[in-house]
Amino acid sequence: MGKVFSLNIHELPEEKIMATTLKPVDVVIIGVGWAGSILAKELAQTGLKVVGLERGGNRRQEDFTLPGIHDQLKYDRRLELFENLSRTTLTFRNTTREVARPMRRHGPFPWGEGVGGAGLHWAGWTWRMTPWDFQIKSQTIARYGEKMIPEDSTIQDWPITYDELEPYYDKFEYTLGISGKAGNLKGEIQPGGNPFEGPRAREYPNPPLKRSYGETLFANAARELGYHPFPMPAAQMSQPYKNPDGVTLGACVYCGYCMNTGCEVMAKAVPQTTTLPVALKTGNFEIRTHAAVTRINTSGNRAISVTYIDGQGRELEQPADLILLTAFTWSNTHLLLVSGIGKPYNPATGTGVVGKNYSWHNALPYIPLYYDEGHIFNPFMGAGALGTVIADFQGDNFDHTGLGFIGGNILAAIAMGHGPLTFQPTPPGTPSWGSEWKKALAYYYTRTVQIIGLHDHLSYRGNYMDLDPNYRDIYGNPLLRLTYDYGPNERRMSEYLVSVGDKIAKAMKPSKYAVYGLDAHFNAGAGYGIIHQVGGAITGTTPANSVVNKYLQSWDVPNLFVIGASSFPQISSFNPTGTVGALAYFAADAIKNKYLKNPGPLVPS
Ligand SMILES: Cc1cc2nc3c(=O)[nH]c(=O)nc-3n(C[C@H](O)[C@H](O)[C@H](O)COP(=O)(O)OP(=O)(O)OC[C@H]3O[C@@H](n4cnc5c(N)ncnc54)[C@H](O)[C@@H]3O)c2cc1C
Repeated sequence: MGKVFSLNIHELPEEKIMATTLKPVDVVIIGVGWAGSILAKELAQTGLKVVGLERGGNRRQEDFTLPGIHDQLKYDRRLELFENLSRTTLTFRNTTREVARPMRRHGPFPWGEGVGGAGLHWAGWTWRMTPWDFQIKSQTIARYGEKMIPEDSTIQDWPITYDELEPYYDKFEYTLGISGKAGNLKGEIQPGGNPFEGPRAREYPNPPLKRSYGETLFANAARELGYHPFPMPAAQMSQPYKNPDGVTLGACVYCGYCMNTGCEVMAKAVPQTTTLPVALKTGNFEIRTHAAVTRINTSGNRAISVTYIDGQGRELEQPADLILLTAFTWSNTHLLLVSGIGKPYNPATGTGVVGKNYSWHNALPYIPLYYDEGHIFNPFMGAGALGTVIADFQGDNFDHTGLGFIGGNILAAIAMGHGPLTFQPTPPGTPSWGSEWKKALAYYYTRTVQIIGLHDHLSYRGNYMDLDPNYRDIYGNPLLRLTYDYGPNERRMSEYLVSVGDKIAKAMKPSKYAVYGLDAHFNAGAGYGIIHQVGGAITGTTPANSVVNKYLQSWDVPNLFVIGASSFPQISSFNPTGTVGALAYFAADAIKNKYLKNPGPLVPS
């Protein structure tokens, strides 16, 4: 028997004892969220024996069909499905001059955990990036010259093009049954869709969801101003749907209990309703829950096994021929660093790659619009990805000459289902407590529309992840340390996008409104919650500029693939999961059709 950990934070064992070694398997997958479950499905179907090690507990679709499951306190407020931050977390600071402190509450960086990962309780906004997003650096230089890229920005082109990834976006969207309207079919612009998107081979598998009243006001105002509103691509089914793997999903009932929780009527595409049942049905895929991987073990340039702590506190070693790291941006980067795989990034010298190019995006702008009598929006109803969007100010869809920044945002009027425990709108000037506050809240709760922008965010030399020198997790590993702040491009972009937001807000004719841009510095104590964290194990063309090649295979350890948003060299305006799903299918294809035929470093074509 190997080492037995007491999972009590105060009783960590000091010395190292050999872990129990288990029977080898073909493939170990670390983390069973969207990326892990796609890889599990694709590889288990080929007959390989696949083991998924998942740090959290089991979460079944059936758990969300129980009476009382509509529980805003449990899921929205207490974030029942998120990682337990007394077990592990990250430390945060804005600059290298500060000492980072551990985050013990889910603020801006909430972590998913358990089978399905954050995919179980995501909102379902399912985007593709545009061709420009994949070539941000070269396209910017070609159109505006080198000087438009801020001096300390480390943005880089992806080694993959939109066209290469298109069939895999398509596969992800059809597996999930995305409801939407194409804007560009094989190069032909389609009325009602996003005219700025890259060409797609075919329509979305399902028509768009129904529109809410607030979205209609937004769409009318946007059209009046000459913009191009379209329905958000949503992972909620607008009608019953059978996917290409033979799994059936139900139609959305707009109950409003969507993000932060599972779906009562199986209308939201999550791993449990799409990829996991197919993977498990093969009989070749085993999930071990409460299995926290603490290290990937290597010998020379081969990964030979992973070490994990199981639910009873035992330390176990699982050997495998192929190891897939699909544990989301934080753990992907963390496990590479604690396992000594790849050269850690050093911001002082700009050398090294692991931890480099961290970025995410905040809400920019956030616009609450307050109406009076005659306008009732029923915010408690909706679906996680119910929204109407404009992309007129995204990426390079408008001329940036003289603006002093690159990129932009997508701007959406949303009806995601906002219960009163978390959505408490009151117009600026309302006291923050007492009877006036209560009166305003009771009045405006049903009379407020929200518009939110998500923006492009460049990567910078000073924004990165490394191992914290002061704090450890309960398994004895140093915590991941995040150093991050907005850059000059984002600050200039904020001013511009606030002015665009203001124009649209006025055109929607509310009684009152506010338009919020970015603060001067990022404040980790504020209660944002957009889990679109990218970078740390980025994809690129050489080992000098990246951790993984275009197939997401480690340059240093060829039988290790690192799959997820950790591979993004910078974040675009779009929520990342559509691209994470496409990349998972792309990597699975490369493993099945290239790597397994000739195991070793894959030569990019
Ligand atoms: C509330 C919320 C709403 C969101 N909405 C959207 C949206 O609308 N659109 C969008 O594009 N994205 C959205 N996201 C982000 C989206 O959920 C992620 O992009 C997506 O889940 C990433 O998939 P993944 O498989 O890489 O990681 P995850 O789904 O996070 O899965 C990773 C898994 O790895 C496990 N793990 C981590 N460390 C270890 C370890 N050491 N050992 C073993 N297991 C480990 C975790 O427990 C987790 O289950 C949302 C996220 C949240 C939290």
